[in-house]
Amino acid sequence: MSRSLDDILRRVVAKGFPELKRLRIAIEFGELDPDTCFFYDQEAGRYRITVNDILRGAPTRALEGGIAHELAHIVHDSRLGRRQRELALARYARSAAYRMRDERSTDMRQIERGYGPELLAFLSFARTLRIRFTRAHGLVLSEISARLRLRPVTASESAGGRQQ
Ligand SMILES: [Zn+2]
Repeated sequence: MSRSLDDILRRVVAKGFPELKRLRIAIEFGELDPDTCFFYDQEAGRYRITVNDILRGAPTRALEGGIAHELAHIVHDSRLGRRQRELALARYARSAAYRMRDERSTDMRQIERGYGPELLAFLSFARTLRIRFTRAHGLVLSEISARLRLRPVTASESAGGRQQ
């Protein structure tokens, strides 16, 4: 377990997702598909967030953005019963349309919890790693900026992974 990842996780939970304090959530860096930056799974009531090794050098703010996204999934999924959860997972695996709706509503939930700027920071940093996100993955930069009523992120900021 990475100490600093754990610190970031605890902080994001306390600030944006306090109802998750009662859950057991572990976090660690690990090997994931190149296009999967963050991933969570659940077994016997324990949650585990895996952060792709390629993000070891990522700024804290970008990590907060990705972690808040996983927590926004967990806050929703943890309310489902076991059967409902299995159905949701099966639909997620099978249907691109379902995945897209799920990812976009997860981003929306994250913004409601105050972690929109960090989501922007994450997407900007991902660009520096040449990872591109489309509408199929969730909200795109311009949609998030519009929701935050920020000016659009400029190309130079995106390239540097900076976000104010
Ligand atoms: Zn997601």
